[in-house]
Amino acid sequence: MSDKNAVIQTCLDMNETGLNIGKSGNVSFRNNGGFLISGSGICYADMTPGDIVQMDLDGGYFGDVLPSSEWRMHLDLYSKRPEAQAVVHVHSPYATAVSCLRKDVPAFHYMIGLTGGASLRCAKYASFGTAELSIEMLKAMEGRNACLLANHGMICFATSLDAALALGVEIEMLCKQYVLACQLGKPINLDDNEMSNILERFKTYGKNSSELEGYESPAFLPPVRRDL
Ligand SMILES: [Zn+2]
Repeated sequence: MSDKNAVIQTCLDMNETGLNIGKSGNVSFRNNGGFLISGSGICYADMTPGDIVQMDLDGGYFGDVLPSSEWRMHLDLYSKRPEAQAVVHVHSPYATAVSCLRKDVPAFHYMIGLTGGASLRCAKYASFGTAELSIEMLKAMEGRNACLLANHGMICFATSLDAALALGVEIEMLCKQYVLACQLGKPINLDDNEMSNILERFKTYGKNSSELEGYESPAFLPPVRRDL
């Protein structure tokens, strides 16, 4: 599959997973020239490779289709976070609902560690598409690979399109669980010590055996691989 088709497929998967409804979400993928990003205001079901826009890391774009209005956040992530290979931004219902409270989601559940830290931060409010929003997003992303955007939605990145989409799905699920828990009462959060244990353990989360070589943790030893 070409890189442009992979971006289109991720856009379609965002709809399939319920992360996105309508045209508000956007997806990008780092490549040699900068990055590919979904075009502005195009219905995903009708998207063709011609609707995926090549941008450079100086804010230039190629072709007749305008890049997503949120291109700046994507560009800044690729510029400032070398580990970012793919970025997903959505206005998914629960993450967006929580973002309207303008507060961080604490460690009410250990899976919050998927963000790379002990909370899901919410970036300060700024208008969509502005450099100011991007600056606030980068601050909320320090040491993290996902954040909420106040009164707006969420954004996350990963080392592949599939991983970025999967992280987006997890973040949306966490926000849904947080909303449900808050309806029942005041969630009891995991303490810093437990979350540092969890974050240590997450170093092995989703890894294959070769990636675990040299990994040592007295509390969380990975299972022992036997010879077949
Ligand atoms: Zn947006």
